[in-house]
Amino acid sequence: MTNPSLLILAGDGIGPEVMTEVRKVIAWLGDKRDLTFDVTEDLVGGAAYDAHGTPLADSTLAKAQEVDAVLLGAVGGPKYDDLDFSVKPERGLLKLRKEMDLFANLRPAQCFDALADFSSLKRDVVAGLDIMIVRELTSGIYFGEPRGIITEGNERVGINTQRYTESEIDRVARSAFELARRRGNKVCSMEKANVMESGILWREVVQKVHDDDYPDVELSHMYADAGAMQLCRAPKQFDVIVTDNLFGDLLSDAAAMLTGSLGMLPSASLGAPMENGRPKALYEPVHGSAPDIAGQGKANPCASILSLAMALRYSFDQGDEATRIETAVEKVLADGTRTGDLMQSGEGTPATTAQMGDAIVAVLEASL
Ligand code: NAD
Repeated sequence: MTNPSLLILAGDGIGPEVMTEVRKVIAWLGDKRDLTFDVTEDLVGGAAYDAHGTPLADSTLAKAQEVDAVLLGAVGGPKYDDLDFSVKPERGLLKLRKEMDLFANLRPAQCFDALADFSSLKRDVVAGLDIMIVRELTSGIYFGEPRGIITEGNERVGINTQRYTESEIDRVARSAFELARRRGNKVCSMEKANVMESGILWREVVQKVHDDDYPDVELSHMYADAGAMQLCRAPKQFDVIVTDNLFGDLLSDAAAMLTGSLGMLPSASLGAPMENGRPKALYEPVHGSAPDIAGQGKANPCASILSLAMALRYSFDQGDEATRIETAVEKVLADGTRTGDLMQSGEGTPATTAQMGDAIVAVLEASL
């Protein structure tokens, strides 16, 4: 049997720093858990622009289409601010998501007990929080036509179009129900069916997918504005939330803040199943390239290491190993090893990126 394959695109800024720590965990999985990956590496973002004059070379895209999963660090940085829009580092990432047709963006909002005091909400509202937002990623108002700024009479008009086909709603709803079956078995679908026709269709299709194929999963519907309020009031009532591209953008950022630090948030973007049954998949931290701390050993590698855990769970059916990594991260935090973003001022000496990665591997080792 061949090993599962991974493509690492470390990218820019703190991307390469945090991916160095991810590689330590991948090596440990190979050495100690008999879980060896064939790993290839390539450039993306500003690093790819520097080497090839484009933020995503065709050869890199071809590799991404072939592997079982892509692990990405981060892209962007001030050095590239003045580049033409078409070759900006972020365009590389957007092209990757689009060409791989990654329509379901999974963003967990999980509040580790040790970090509950970092949330902007009260400890008892967020401690133990574990929800998953599934955002539709390749359609909706960010892509719908017509769009643009036109002139009508003597003033300009900005236009964007919210457009969803039944099949686009159907496939992302299925992703959410499948996920719910592996978690708390509850899905809440959010839209604005009270004021938007696309919302009415969204609600109908989600309900039909449920009734036809997932009647065992508990389904509720909520208007997205009420959902935002409930996320702040009592977030633990949710398990999986499925929503469109625009509402998902807003709701997942709001949910992210429930958990404290950007350095802790992983994500997965999944597409249709490939021939081997695995979904097309890209795993990456939610944070960017953090130019303000790049190159200083200050970056928190947890979001990237937790993204690897998501890859184990959603691409490689290794839920137990994913949980082992998540538990190790939680233990390291509880033991007090923390990068600066997870410390209150005057709280002692922060761990470096490498120390944090080493501490996680040491706890993994001790878990055997
Ligand atoms: P950012 O996420 O890079 O940083 C925001 C703040 O959070 C900074 O103060 C940073 O130091 C801190 N931070 C982020 N990740 C951290 C980590 N792992 N550990 C410790 N602290 C961390 O967002 P930004 O400053 O708005 O953007 C910087 C660059 O990143 C821009 O070029 C932007 O376009 C790009 N960006 C890329 C992605 C991506 O690659 N997916 C996402 C967002 C932003």
